[in-house]
Amino acid sequence: MQFIDLKAQYQHLQTKINSRIQQVLEHGQYIMGPEVCELEEKLAEYVGVKHAITCANGTDALQLTMMAFDVKQGDAIFCPTFTFFATAEAPAFFGATPIFVDSDSATFNICPVDLEKRIQAVIAEGKLTPKAIIAVDLFGLLANYPEIEKIAEKYQLKLIEDAAQGFGGSLNGKKAGSFGDIATTSFFPAKPLGCYGDGGAVFTNDDKLAELIKSYRVHGKGSDKYDNVRIGMNSRLDTLQAAILLEKLAEFPQELINRNVSADAYQAALSQNICTPQVPENYMSSWAQYTLVDERRAELMEHLKVKGVPSVIYYAKCMHQQTAFRKNSYPQGVFPVAEKLAKQVFSLPMHPYINEVDVVTTALNSFFD
Ligand SMILES: *Cc1c(COP(=O)(O)O)cnc(C)c1O
Repeated sequence: MQFIDLKAQYQHLQTKINSRIQQVLEHGQYIMGPEVCELEEKLAEYVGVKHAITCANGTDALQLTMMAFDVKQGDAIFCPTFTFFATAEAPAFFGATPIFVDSDSATFNICPVDLEKRIQAVIAEGKLTPKAIIAVDLFGLLANYPEIEKIAEKYQLKLIEDAAQGFGGSLNGKKAGSFGDIATTSFFPAKPLGCYGDGGAVFTNDDKLAELIKSYRVHGKGSDKYDNVRIGMNSRLDTLQAAILLEKLAEFPQELINRNVSADAYQAALSQNICTPQVPENYMSSWAQYTLVDERRAELMEHLKVKGVPSVIYYAKCMHQQTAFRKNSYPQGVFPVAEKLAKQVFSLPMHPYINEVDVVTTALNSFFD
């Protein structure tokens, strides 16, 4: 059994993907070919925003966003401590200070109450300039944007949605990638919408920000590519990856339905024995991960392994526990919810072509007999 079965997806889409790849090989426009433009239009339409700008990966999407907001040393950027490293790495790369925030115990996402406390603490200390919030749609579930938007407005902070895992999910019918001033996503193969290599995108409704990001994406270009008006980077999405993504995006709505069917089956079979993920009303998850919480994690994972069921820990370490950030030395217990999650979470196999949900639930439930 595969944790995420990319081969099953390829087999399902093989003819279409092969023909799209063949078309690129024939026209030979490997960089910024017509498929990139076509994909950007389709992504913007799918997400419901004015601009979708593709780039080389989800980390670059965050970095391009930091560049567009001129994030620099002395800035405070608020983000969850329980996330993938790139969320906190992007602001830190530009010399800004990531200010970590605890998680909500029910959704695992950034806790709005703790967020406001941390913002007030930074203001009271008076050393850093509060600049932006990066909210993460962890494991496919959108963050609490109604609350976070109020806080961003109250303290005049930019809001960034890191939708690397949430892409495809929605809140009140509004899609992941459409929240905040800028949203970012990743097309890493294991994400809800993945390509066959690295890829990413930035979403915004703001024309000026979109122009800036397009410039930063290609060496800070001005009106033509040999006119460089700012220091940028080289972060384009390959035409071949765009071609693959076009076919995957067409199938994506059906894949989301499949993921939700599997999540419902997990929930029905497991919830009497173990803490299963909760999706609040009006939210739809893209189920990037199906994540359980239990203090007997090590025994449970071993039990599954013996029965041939793979499981993975996302994430065993919070950001404040990472060596790279420990110079700021956080005493144990300052992020009680996130620290508990790091000790207790583990994720079950989840992908759109899974047909072994019964095998997984039988194996897991047998632990409790
Ligand atoms: C995967 C991920 C990223 C980074 O995406 P890459 O394409 O791997 O660079 C950023 N944030 C979150 C929350 C992620 O899960």
